Amino acid sequence: MIVAEQKPIKEVWEMVKDYEKVLVIGCKGCVTVCNVGGAKEVGVLASLLRIAANKNGKTMEVGEATLERQCDPEYIEEVRDIIGEYDAVVSIACGVGPQFLSERYPQSRIFPGLNTKFMGGAIEHGVWSERCAGCGTCVVHYFGGLCPIARCSKSLLNGPCGGSSGGKCEISKEVDCIWDLIVRKLMEQGRLDELRQFRPPKDWTTARDGGPRTMIREELVK
Ligand code: SF4
Ligand code: SF4
Repeated sequence: MIVAEQKPIKEVWEMVKDYEKVLVIGCKGCVTVCNVGGAKEVGVLASLLRIAANKNGKTMEVGEATLERQCDPEYIEEVRDIIGEYDAVVSIACGVGPQFLSERYPQSRIFPGLNTKFMGGAIEHGVWSERCAGCGTCVVHYFGGLCPIARCSKSLLNGPCGGSSGGKCEISKEVDCIWDLIVRKLMEQGRLDELRQFRPPKDWTTARDGGPRTMIREELVK
């Protein structure tokens, strides 16, 4: 899933403090799963904004809505009848949400209420860890099912580098060296020789470095 964190309330308040009618819009997708952008968090953020307005002697009406997803036009459409009633909108979805809202409702002022962090998963309750950098051509099967692009600090495809020490990455004692894990896993599986196989350079044109990407599924396009 896409993992995000809430922006500090002070930052959100600074964005919207001069507006009298503010709509907070959540998303029932990834950000609900990581507890930052679902219906519950919409309610909490709306309450915090009301409290901040009260404390600062401002008049602010804060509305609440939570969409099935903010990354699908059909759901973005669901606020069409109400969004025009508000001076400002705070989207607490991943970075796609405020952009889809901005594109769909060009007259509205849309603000991001979250900081989108990465694609990953929960490794324990309340702890999420990055797993994928969306390179466009998955190669984890070459590396024991572990991704050196997202999880090596240098995205090395031929690690470990000289900074690997005691299983940790040189950037921090808190960060596992993924190449240490890859090598150990392949050794345990008796497949270490696979790392010696010649492979042509990875095609990075499918990655973000090739510019903004679009994926077209012809059979789904009307
Ligand atoms: S190889 Fe690419 S697609 Fe696969 S997990 Fe890593 S970054 Fe994601
Ligand atoms: S120490 Fe390991 S994870 Fe860190 S940059 Fe070097 S190879 Fe990558």
